[in-house]
Amino acid sequence: ADHKVSNFLRQIIEKDLELGTYASRRWAGSPGDAAHHAKGQPDPAKIRTRFPPEPNGYLHVGHAKSICINFGLAKEYGGVCHLRFDDTNPEKEDTEYVNSIIDAVKWLGFDWAQLGQTAGSAAPYQASDYFDFMYRAAEALIETGHAYVDEQSAEDMRANRGDFGKPGVDSPFRSRTVAENLARFHEMRDGQLADGAAVLRAKIDMASPNINLRDPAIYRIRRATHHHTGDTWCIYPMYTFAHPIEDALEQITHSICTLEFEDQRPFYDWLMERLCECKLLTAPSPKQYEFARLNLTYVITSKRKLAQLVNEGNVSGWDDPRMPTIVGLRRRGYTPESLRLFADRIGVTKSDSWIDYSTLEGCLREDLENKAHRGMAVLDPVKLVLTNWAEAFGSDGYTEACTQPALPHSAIAEGQTPPADRTFLIGKEVWIEREDFEEVPPKGYKRLSPPKVNPDGSTSPGAVVRLKGGYVIECTGCARDAAGQVTEVHAKVIPGTKSGTPGADSVKAKAAITWVSVADGVQAEVRLYDRLFAEAHPDAGGKDFLQSLNPDSLKVVTAYVEPSLAGAQPDQKFQFERFGYFVADRLDHVAGSKPVFSRVTGLKDSWGK
Ligand code: ATP
Ligand code: MG
Ligand code: MG
Repeated sequence: ADHKVSNFLRQIIEKDLELGTYASRRWAGSPGDAAHHAKGQPDPAKIRTRFPPEPNGYLHVGHAKSICINFGLAKEYGGVCHLRFDDTNPEKEDTEYVNSIIDAVKWLGFDWAQLGQTAGSAAPYQASDYFDFMYRAAEALIETGHAYVDEQSAEDMRANRGDFGKPGVDSPFRSRTVAENLARFHEMRDGQLADGAAVLRAKIDMASPNINLRDPAIYRIRRATHHHTGDTWCIYPMYTFAHPIEDALEQITHSICTLEFEDQRPFYDWLMERLCECKLLTAPSPKQYEFARLNLTYVITSKRKLAQLVNEGNVSGWDDPRMPTIVGLRRRGYTPESLRLFADRIGVTKSDSWIDYSTLEGCLREDLENKAHRGMAVLDPVKLVLTNWAEAFGSDGYTEACTQPALPHSAIAEGQTPPADRTFLIGKEVWIEREDFEEVPPKGYKRLSPPKVNPDGSTSPGAVVRLKGGYVIECTGCARDAAGQVTEVHAKVIPGTKSGTPGADSVKAKAAITWVSVADGVQAEVRLYDRLFAEAHPDAGGKDFLQSLNPDSLKVVTAYVEPSLAGAQPDQKFQFERFGYFVADRLDHVAGSKPVFSRVTGLKDSWGK
C-alpha cells in the first residue's frame, strides 16, 4: 500500500545518495556562522529539504502538495525538512500567518528539524535571522568585483535591461570602483539615501539571453518595519539573492520549488559559486530543482484572489469550508491522510497540467470509506405515521430500540475490533425523506406509494418497504394541507419483521428507506456545500473569476439526525447513509444541544451529471 512511484526527484536524490554528493557536509550550530561548518560535526541527516513559505497569507492546497513533497521526500530518504519563514519582505508579513502555517504543517502530519537534528519539533527557521550574513555576503560580492551600487532611475534601469533578443545596456554606474561601491552600499545601509534612490546589483552579464542574469538587483532601500527585526534595517535583500543563501546556511541539499523559478536557477548557481570562492560558504552547495505547481479544476490558488473572496464577502473567511485553503479544507472535513494520498496520487512532474477536482474528492472518499461511522439523517423531512402502532404493540407511546453496525462488515480490517453498534428508537411516528413517497409513482419507483385502484376496479395494495434497521411497513395513503402539500404519510407496521430477528425476511420489501424516529431524532442544521466555482477554469485567460461563482455553493437545511450523530464531537466525520460524507462543524457544532453538519462530499462523483 505504501509503494512509492519513482519520479525525477526521487531519481536525483537516489543518485546523490549513491554518489555521496552531500556526505562531506558538516555543521557547527548556528546557520549564521557558515564559515564554521567546515570544522563542525558530520551532518546526521542524509538529505535536507525545506518548505519556505512567505508568511503573507494562508496556505492552500498547492502548498499542501509542496509540503508533502518536501517533508515526504526527506522522511523517505533518512533526511529532514526545515520549515523556514521566508520573511525577507518586510511589508506583507504577519505573525497571524506564521501561526497558521505552523498549524497547517503540523496538521498535515509533518515535523521539522534544525541543523544537527534528525527529527523532532525544532523551532522553525526564519530568513530574517540571516540578514547580517546576507549583508556580509553582499559586501563580499562588492569586494570581489561582483556587485555594484546602481543609481539609475527605475525607468532607466528597466529600459536598459533590454528584452528578449535585445541585449541590455550597461549602467553608467557599472564601472564604479570597489571602494566607491562599498562606500555607497554603507550609505544605503546607514539610511543616507532615500527609498528607491539606489539598488545593489550583481555584476554578471547585460547581454545574457537569460534576462535574470542581466545584473539582477540584490538589495534595495525600503524604510519599513519588519515584523521580526523591527527598524534595524532600512535595506532588504531581494528574494533571488536571499533564498539561495538561506538554503546554503541551512545546508539544504535539494532545494525544491515550482517551475516559475527555473529561469532563476543560473543565478542561484552563480551566487553559490561566488560565495564559495570568497570562503563565505563551503561546498557542496545546495541545488535547485523545479516541479510543476498544482492546478486544480474549479479552484483558485492565488493568494491575492483568495483574499479578494474573503474581503468581498463571497465566503465567510479563510476557513470557509468552500475555500481551498488548508484551514478551509480541514473545516470541510478533509483529513491529513486524504491530502497526503492526493499528493502521492498526482505525483511530481516537470510539466504543467490540470488535475481534476474529482481526484481530490476521490482521495477523501477513499480515506473515509473505512473510517467514518454510518448514521441516518433525514434532510428533507416529512412525517410518516404508523397508524396501526397501538394495535400492534399495545400503545401509541410504545418505542423499541433498533441497532445497526457503525461500520459495515467490509470496512473492518482483519483482527480489528468493530466499533460498538448504533442504537436508536422506532415508534409510531418517524421522519422520512419527502422524495420517498409518491402518490402517483413514476415507472420503476420502489419506495412508498399508496394502494391504487386499477382500471378493472380491483385494488393493488400500497408499496411494502423496510424502514432500514427497523420494521417492514405497507403504505396506506397520506394527508395533505389546503395547498395540496403532503403533510403526513400513512402506513401500517408489519409486526414480526424487524431487522435482525428471525422473521425479518418473512415479508419481502421492495426497498429499504432511511428514517429517523420522532421519539429520539434530533433537529440539526445541515450545510450542503458544493463547489465554489461553476467553471473548471475560473480565472483562465484573464477572466473575472467572480463571474464564475457557483450560486448554489451553499444550501442550508433543517434535518433530523439519529442520536449517535447528534452526540458527535466537533470535526468528527460520518457517512450519512445514501447522502455521502458529512462532518460535525469544527466551530459551530455543539454535541447534543446544537448539531451542525457540513457536507464534505457525495458518495460518488456527481459533478457535471
Ligand atoms: P504568492 O501567492 O504570494 O506568490 P506563493 O504561492 O509563491 O506566494 P509561498 O509562500 O512563497 O507562496 O510558497 C511556499 C512554497 O509553496 C513555494 O516553494 C512555492 O513554490 C510552493 N507553492 C505555492 N503554490 C503552489 C502550487 N500551486 N503548487 C505547488 N507548490 C506551490
Ligand atoms: Mg512566493
Ligand atoms: Mg502563488
